Amino acid sequence: MERTLSLIKPDAVRKNAIGAIISMLEAGGLKVVGAKLVRLSRAQAEGFYAVHRERPFFSSLCEFMSSGPIVAMVLEGEGAIAKNREIMGVTDSKKAAPGTIRARFGTSIEQNAVHGSDAPETARTEIAYFFAPYELFGLGW
Ligand code: ATP
Ligand code: MG
Repeated sequence: MERTLSLIKPDAVRKNAIGAIISMLEAGGLKVVGAKLVRLSRAQAEGFYAVHRERPFFSSLCEFMSSGPIVAMVLEGEGAIAKNREIMGVTDSKKAAPGTIRARFGTSIEQNAVHGSDAPETARTEIAYFFAPYELFGLGW
C-alpha cells in the first residue's frame, strides 16, 4: 500500500471540476485518505515547488498556484504514485492521452489541472507539507 499527494490546481477548481476529478481518481482504484481546500500564499507555492526554483517557468508557476484555492488530497492504493500519474496524464495538457485528467481539464503545460508526487520520498515530504498525521485516515475508521 502506497500514499501520494494529489493537488487539484486553481484552474480546475475554477472550472468546477473538483467532483469529476475525484471521481476519476476513485474509479482508478485510489482512495481519498485526506482532503482539504486551501489557498497557498506566494511563499508557500515557492516552498512547495522549490526544486524548480531555477527553471524559467518558476515565477509564473508560483503565481498560478497561489491564484486561487486548490484541493489537497492524500490518495492511497497499491502503486498509488504511478497509478495517480497514469490517471493524470503527462505534464503538457495538449499532449496528454485522451481520457486522462489533464486532457479533459488542463489547458496548457502550466495550467494542467492536477499535481501528483513522482516518487516515494517526494510523496512523503509533499504529504507532510499539507497534512498533519491526525488529518489522515487509513484502514479501519
Ligand atoms: P506536477 O509536479 O505538478 O505533478 P509534473 O511532475 O508533470 O507536474 P514538473 O516537471 O514537476 O511536472 O513541473 C511542475 C509543474 O510546473 C507542472 O505541473 C506545470 O504546472 C509546470 N511546468 C512544468 N514545465 C513547464 C513549462 N515548460 N512551462 C510552464 N510550466 C511548466
Ligand atoms: Mg513534478
